[in-house]
Amino acid sequence: MNNIKLMLIVILSISITACFPSNNSPKSEILLQGRTMGTTYNIKVVATPEQVTNLKLQQKIDGVLKQVNQEMSTYIPNSEISRFNKSSSSENFEVSAGFARVLKESIRLGELSEGKLDITVGPLVNLWGFGPEQRPEKAPNEELLAATLTRIGLKNLHLDGQQLSKDIPSLYIDLSTIAKGYGVDIVAELIEANGITNYLVEIGGEMRLKGFKHTGELWAIAIEKPILDPSGEERAVHQIVIPKDNAVATSGDYRNYFEADGHRFSHIIDPATGKPIDHNLVSVTVIDPSSMTADGLSTTLMVMGTEKGMAFAIKNNIAALFISKTEHGFSEQFTVKFKQYLK
Ligand code: ADP
Ligand code: MG
Repeated sequence: MNNIKLMLIVILSISITACFPSNNSPKSEILLQGRTMGTTYNIKVVATPEQVTNLKLQQKIDGVLKQVNQEMSTYIPNSEISRFNKSSSSENFEVSAGFARVLKESIRLGELSEGKLDITVGPLVNLWGFGPEQRPEKAPNEELLAATLTRIGLKNLHLDGQQLSKDIPSLYIDLSTIAKGYGVDIVAELIEANGITNYLVEIGGEMRLKGFKHTGELWAIAIEKPILDPSGEERAVHQIVIPKDNAVATSGDYRNYFEADGHRFSHIIDPATGKPIDHNLVSVTVIDPSSMTADGLSTTLMVMGTEKGMAFAIKNNIAALFISKTEHGFSEQFTVKFKQYLK
């Protein structure tokens, strides 16, 4: 009898260890880091080191991000987007499923914002010196600006499933306003597909998180204080948010800009004028389940400015925080939907 009991205990303990082969060490926050899309990524997963190794998580992450670049980077000459941009044909061009997903959301947000978010704005971005082409010494003249404006517009772009086409040969797509957010989404989806439910994914400042830290606390995110410091070295915390299972994206004007003729030029263009935005809004933070949507919306609201952006965010039920420059420092405004995330 005793022997049977002992055997049962032994069998039981063998089957328990067999069920949890990688649970020998406790779960902690494992940091995975690398470079993508001209910036860095930082990913925290709550797991055991064995789990992360066995799943080959970092290789898988690098693999999907490499694919995003091969599809959507204008810096890679033979990427899908570059081949479409270079082509002067108005025939259908088949794009991969991921690229189509980003295009679909970009077009949806473009229509929702009546053209304030416009992924065909590329020629203007390049004209003002923020694209893969060279940075100009000074602002372009009005004639060149008017000519470039005729080369943009979402009405000239058509997406039907995975078939993409353009009406004018020079149409050029630039997804830099939304691609990082998409990268965050697919990495988050990859992590979840591998059975990890507590994580934080960050690519170049765009984030998406789920669940808890290894301590059992909710993830907290620090929104940076907008300091107009060209060196970008001075950083401070403006606000702490607890986004729960959501993505957080910030579009800010205080890091990427150039100065010419004694004027600061933003890297965000108002497609209505063809010129860089010129208002006192310095950053917009959006919280949304999708990082791609949050990324696109933060730029959209940035183009609109505080007043129109607030009205748009309220109307469309967007969780948004606006930080503006005032005479005496900074002021902030947020929608009711954003308030729940403030710490
Ligand atoms: P960042 O994270 O660098 O602040 P954003 O997500 O705000 O970037 O996107 C800014 C980039 O989007 C610009 O560098 C430019 O390439 C592109 N862009 C600028 N204006 C617009 C616009 N109105 N619509 C879509 N894309 C834009
Ligand atoms: Mg953006």
